[in-house]
Amino acid sequence: MTVSAVMEALGYGCPDTGFAFSVAAHLFASLMPIVEFGSEEQKRRWLPALCSGERIAAHGITEPEAGSDVLNLRTRAERKGDHYVLHGSKCFTTNAPVADVFVVQAATDPGGGFFGLTAFIVEASTHGLSVGPTYDKVGLRGSPMADVHFDGCVVPAVDVLGAEGAGASVFSSSMKWERTCLFAAYLGAMRRVLESTINYAGEREQFGVPIGSFQAVSHRLVDMTLRLESARLMLYKAASGLARGSEDEIAPALAKLAVSEAAVQLGLDAVQLRGALGMLEGEAETLLRDALPSRVFSGTNEIQKNNIARALGLGANRRPARRR
Ligand SMILES: Cc1cc2nc3c(=O)[nH]c(=O)nc-3n(C[C@H](O)[C@H](O)[C@H](O)COP(=O)(O)OP(=O)(O)OC[C@H]3O[C@@H](n4cnc5c(N)ncnc54)[C@H](O)[C@@H]3O)c2cc1C
Repeated sequence: MTVSAVMEALGYGCPDTGFAFSVAAHLFASLMPIVEFGSEEQKRRWLPALCSGERIAAHGITEPEAGSDVLNLRTRAERKGDHYVLHGSKCFTTNAPVADVFVVQAATDPGGGFFGLTAFIVEASTHGLSVGPTYDKVGLRGSPMADVHFDGCVVPAVDVLGAEGAGASVFSSSMKWERTCLFAAYLGAMRRVLESTINYAGEREQFGVPIGSFQAVSHRLVDMTLRLESARLMLYKAASGLARGSEDEIAPALAKLAVSEAAVQLGLDAVQLRGALGMLEGEAETLLRDALPSRVFSGTNEIQKNNIARALGLGANRRPARRR
């Protein structure tokens, strides 16, 4: 609850949602897995500098051929005595251009489904790890992103996070944090833009009166408020579940759906209410550009619906059966 409130405040006070997003990728997809699954030695080694922000972390699971279908990723980790050798590439890795350390998912049992993945903590300076050029994105521009390549990258076995075969559990747990706390930053950004839009509607005059006095305008602002407040309630419900250690997968997925869809719609409405000014560079178009990727990362909204349907006991999307 506290972390969500802090992230909401960061989203409100920091006009660069990309920065808030990078902070969240560092905290919830990289640092929290070490808190929850790390050995005492891994926690001692990494947490102080990651908590202080002295060192930056990135999380790599997505690959060119494995986006939503993460269990079929191709990066291989082969055990050779007391170390593993990693081969493969990650894409869309937030913070990669500035990261000191990566939490990386690789297949230790290709085709092994949920139990075929293993998470590794890999220092950026490790021989065989390289980072590609920084992407040029339409939204979240303050958040640097790049590909990461592993070419015979040797990782000591003590740097396995959790246990061999536990990668998907590490990933699922970090996604619950992301789908809740990361999205709180969007609530803050939406509130900031809603407030400035209400102010604009009170000041901009057409036909001799403020445009906010036209019902079409004021009702749109009420709908924006309704969307924001509903999404906010769902997010804090998910946060309260996380705080109680709930295993519920539905609340974080619903929160992610509600906040991201509300953010896109609120961005569109904020642009529309500014008229031609909405087409110029400014906080309304920035919110819209920053909101679009929120329907994609942390599992696309379509995948959230699949997950929710599965959690509701609806058939076809069951997890593949354990093979061993
Ligand atoms: C801003 C941003 C930051 C990111 N940061 C990271 C990061 O730090 N680390 C990382 O590993 N990844 C990161 N990603 C990648 C992100 O996790 C993936 O983009 C996401 O999982 C979707 O994969 P994809 O882009 O390959 O889309 P695809 O999986 O190819 O999906 C394409 C379309 O098909 C739909 N689709 C696919 N399968 C199904 C299905 N079974 N049912 C219904 N619809 C389906 C999707 O919903 C989507 O609309 C980031 C992405 C963005 C946009």
